[in-house]
Amino acid sequence: MPYSASETRYDSMPYARVGRSGLKLPRISLGWWYNFGSLDRFENARSLARYAFDHGITHFDLANNYGPKPGSAEDTLGMLLKQDFGPYRDELVISTKAGYDMWPGPYGEWASRKYLVASLDQSLKRMGLDYVDIFYHHRPDPDTPLEETMGALDYIVRSGRALYAGVSNYTAEGTRQAARMLRALGTPLLIHQPRYSMLDRWVEDGLLDVLEEEGVGSIVFSPLEQGQLTDRYLKGIPEGARATKTDRVWLTPAEVKGNLPKVLKLNEIAERRGQKMSQMALAWVLRQPAVTSALVGASSVEQVEDNLGALNNLSFEEAELQEIEKILQS
Ligand code: NDP
Repeated sequence: MPYSASETRYDSMPYARVGRSGLKLPRISLGWWYNFGSLDRFENARSLARYAFDHGITHFDLANNYGPKPGSAEDTLGMLLKQDFGPYRDELVISTKAGYDMWPGPYGEWASRKYLVASLDQSLKRMGLDYVDIFYHHRPDPDTPLEETMGALDYIVRSGRALYAGVSNYTAEGTRQAARMLRALGTPLLIHQPRYSMLDRWVEDGLLDVLEEEGVGSIVFSPLEQGQLTDRYLKGIPEGARATKTDRVWLTPAEVKGNLPKVLKLNEIAERRGQKMSQMALAWVLRQPAVTSALVGASSVEQVEDNLGALNNLSFEEAELQEIEKILQS
């Protein structure tokens, strides 16, 4: 069936301004790290993308290495742009990144101008795009001068390969320096992509302040701690869940078991609020004024639907926040 986007796609999603820029992002965005690669079912990827866009998720987040196999999430997006989303290109914000290991030799990772420009050219080819909306440097590199990396981001934007520049996983101080260098070059730093969830709160220790001071937006990744802050693991570790997959080492059964007692207590608060655990976890990161969007992953359309339900109640009573705080500190 040819795809025709839902007429009601803009009826319920709130959009937030990214820092002090002209761009807005949906409060919930869709990440393509997993479930969109060549080892995944293409029809499932298509359903996820269509469902998301039909419900106002205008932002798809990718990186050169997303798959598995690396590069294949961008291939999938390229196919979907051809088959489904071509007419909607200007309604979409598509991002990609470079920073992690992508090809052999000294030019296939980290932060040199050589790597960043070549990697983005490869990404554009895979996606069949002339430009991406946001291009990120994916992780800080202790060995490449920041001037070179920021100079490359400025060049990438000026050359028309990307409309905006972003950084990911940069420290608070690194972000401040990056923002100042880019501003001096005339290409403002649009956005930071840090990890942030109830179980990983490093951004509260300085980064969120820097973002507000510098007028930079943020989109926070793994807000559900890869599924731990949902009902996925409340009754054990189900077959097929991310923690069972041996090709992805980022979530282990031991980690899930270790966090479960806290999650069970948090889930009681979510139930009292009339929300699912996942919905409360998303509302909790979105309560921060410096957070523009929560970047979620999903393996099924039902999960995207669940996560969108967070938008029905984003506010917290002070007493709820304190109760949550006590559990998180315990
Ligand atoms: P999440 O914390 O949102 O975890 C997503 C996983 O949680 C899903 O794949 C699914 O796991 C499970 N899940 C999601 N919703 C539900 C639900 N409602 N009920 C039950 N289970 C649910 O985020 P990710 O870790 O996937 O990261 C999100 C995005 O952030 C990535 O796709 C990527 O774009 C970006 N990212 C960026 C990084 C960076 O360095 N900049 C690093 C990592 C991610 P299951 O497979 O078990 O169903």
